[in-house]
Amino acid sequence: MAAYNLLLLPGDGIGPEVMAEVERVIAWLNAAGPHSFATESDLVGGSAYDAHGQAISDAAMDKALAADAVIFGAVGGPKWDGVPYDVRPEAGLLRLRKDLELFANLRPAICYPALADASSLKREIVEGLDILIVRELTGGVYFGEPKTITDIGNGQKRAIDTQVYDTFEIERIARVAFDLAATRKNLVHSAEKRNVMKTGVLWHEVVSQVHAREYPAAELHHILADNCAMQLVRTPKQFDVLVTDNLFGDVLSDIAAMLTGSLGMLPSASLGAPDAKTGRRKALYEPVHGSAPDIAGQGLANPIAMIASFAMALRYSFGQIESADLVESAVASVLEQGLRTGDIMQPGCTRVSTADMGAAVVAAMERIAG
Ligand code: NAD
Repeated sequence: MAAYNLLLLPGDGIGPEVMAEVERVIAWLNAAGPHSFATESDLVGGSAYDAHGQAISDAAMDKALAADAVIFGAVGGPKWDGVPYDVRPEAGLLRLRKDLELFANLRPAICYPALADASSLKREIVEGLDILIVRELTGGVYFGEPKTITDIGNGQKRAIDTQVYDTFEIERIARVAFDLAATRKNLVHSAEKRNVMKTGVLWHEVVSQVHAREYPAAELHHILADNCAMQLVRTPKQFDVLVTDNLFGDVLSDIAAMLTGSLGMLPSASLGAPDAKTGRRKALYEPVHGSAPDIAGQGLANPIAMIASFAMALRYSFGQIESADLVESAVASVLEQGLRTGDIMQPGCTRVSTADMGAAVVAAMERIAG
């Protein structure tokens, strides 16, 4: 019986509420076997600041580095608006991403049939949609130097951001995309702006080389990022895996995510390089949403994004495809039953609390597993 070590970092606001529902799923999987998960919890964000004066303690960081996967809730809230910049709640997440060297951000956009009418697009355009956006997370224009605002006289200032990519950064994100595509339709779109950007020229060249050299069986299409934005809302089902840089990925993943409805439904994963010995990647799984202070502590939060993030851990960190499929089928099933938290409420459906939704997902897992 394989035992995997999970570090749970619930964080602030609705973080602990939605994490409790993941713990329910983990308890069911542990009882059902054959794999088992050992969990440990620690503080992050505002709650860590209150306890330690830091957004994540060194001890919690050590646990994150040693864990097989980190499951992260959400951080932040008005209570910590005035704390010093370098210990603000978000600094905990940034440190985790940096120290675990998480360079690949995975954002699936899946449209559950039961929620197809909640999309701003027509049902036939989004029903059955299943896209995976792979965004480079640690390079590009958000980190490139120089990054300055300079006074250039005459009441004028000049702002400079630098978009910079090296070959190895493009190669490793391309490999993540092709590896993931091999578990799906083996179809990759690579988006850049080679018509106006040198980084786009290099991106195109390196992705093409990785494809020809290492993944000739995959189907690769290059697409300009602006056209890609248009195609995502025009015919999104043409995409399977979409790989792109940090800036375009930020924008395109939000477009793709919103095709499918509420923030409370959206999971994500951030992956690092494979470990030389075990082959396993450092990984952090988190819902896309924040700590939702407006609804915290009231049992109103939708736990599906958090539960679906854990399903991604089962799939991408532990290769437990059957368990991941089971969790995702259970989510689809409770939506088919018409159970809804407030954020996805539709006429004729039954409104349930955070805990009721988590319990319904586990009951559906039990039913489907037979
Ligand atoms: P948010 O995602 O917390 O909330 C936006 C809106 O969506 C709110 O109305 C909220 O009630 C709703 N919502 C979010 N998740 C939901 C869920 N699971 N179920 C039902 N409704 C949900 O974004 P915000 O309000 O801009 O930010 C609140 C705090 O969260 C801020 O302190 C912000 O810095 C932080 N934040 C953290 C993260 C993170 O931890 N990764 C991400 C985004 C924002």
